[in-house]
Amino acid sequence: MASVTLEHVYKRFGDLVAVKDQSLEIKDKEFVVLVGPSGCGKSTTLRMIAGLEEISEGDIKIGDNIVNDVAPKDRDIAMVFQNYALYPHMNVYDNMAFGLKLRKFPKDEIERRVQEAADILGIEQLLERKPKQLSGGQRQRVALGRAIVREPQVFLMDEPLSNLDAKLRVQMRTELSKLHDELQTTMIYVTHDQTEAMTMGDRIVVLKDGVIQQVDDPLSLYNHPNNMFVGGFIGSPAMNFMDAKIEKEGDTYYIDGDGTFRIRVPEDKEDYIKDYAGKDVVFGVRPEDIVDTDINHDFEVKEDNSFEADVDVVEPMGSEIYLYLAEEGHSLIARVEAESKAQTGDTISLGVDLRKIHIFDAETEECIF
Ligand code: ATP
Repeated sequence: MASVTLEHVYKRFGDLVAVKDQSLEIKDKEFVVLVGPSGCGKSTTLRMIAGLEEISEGDIKIGDNIVNDVAPKDRDIAMVFQNYALYPHMNVYDNMAFGLKLRKFPKDEIERRVQEAADILGIEQLLERKPKQLSGGQRQRVALGRAIVREPQVFLMDEPLSNLDAKLRVQMRTELSKLHDELQTTMIYVTHDQTEAMTMGDRIVVLKDGVIQQVDDPLSLYNHPNNMFVGGFIGSPAMNFMDAKIEKEGDTYYIDGDGTFRIRVPEDKEDYIKDYAGKDVVFGVRPEDIVDTDINHDFEVKEDNSFEADVDVVEPMGSEIYLYLAEEGHSLIARVEAESKAQTGDTISLGVDLRKIHIFDAETEECIF
């Protein structure tokens, strides 16, 4: 059993509370990604799991054992860092074998494990080389290899791909996911990059100011963010937010942007919004859920789900176009199909997919639907 459990964990550095009341259960064999902006406490959380940082309050369990006072080397975990931390004077084989030698593993067992890890990572031909004779991606593989040979119960990875160029990073993402499938070991991975989180994790933990905002699988997180922070952090380009008020007319509820737009609340969402009539809210819509009404879309565009906006910038991406729009003081982005003819300076009509919209409480920033 290699589940990892955090129970009401805190970390204080003097007056600063870097990790606040985190409770989390990571299942055996799960790939969990901790994601959030710089300083949100990702690394500190990981380092507490590794035993590199003391816990101020709460418990951390690996399997059924509380490990608060267990030394890092006795936790049966392996950690991979951003800077690889390879020994420059040792060749790849010795770098990978080093930890096992220290632990006095028999020579043939070391040989078997290093060869197996090298085979998994496709670095058999590099075993004699020194780190300075390797590319960034190869070094990162060696760093992974050094963790794999330990055959740990849990892998902890702190931004392991951030020193690689964009293309290699994408490739290594896939490789790490495959590696996880192959090794069937619990993995906890830290990144500030939401795309990395979305593409790799079975589940994602979104952190802000040391507090867990939401724990969910990637699609649930994307489609059902708990609050504005998660809605804005996950997804690129980011979700559009516009201040609005809920208005009731007869039996119908509208999201009113102070005369700039007026969008009908779908009938199946009215129950959520009833108590908000007359109140301030924030209207959230993802760029891909806004369409250029001149091109095909799979929903009906009527007066109560459309608005006009000026096109500020047109950014062709090849398969699609990002339109940067200005709408009476609101700036927003629409991700429209490549056939869109919209030009800078045009005023165009846009439709909103009502099935995908979100409303947030203006005060608490919590999602209403
Ligand atoms: P990044 O993505 O920039 O690495 P992070 O989310 O991993 O950020 P942490 O490194 O966990 O953030 O830091 C969380 C907070 O704790 C930050 O405000 C940081 O300045 C603070 N912090 C971290 N380590 C220490 C320390 N040893 N002493 C004092 N403050 C610290």
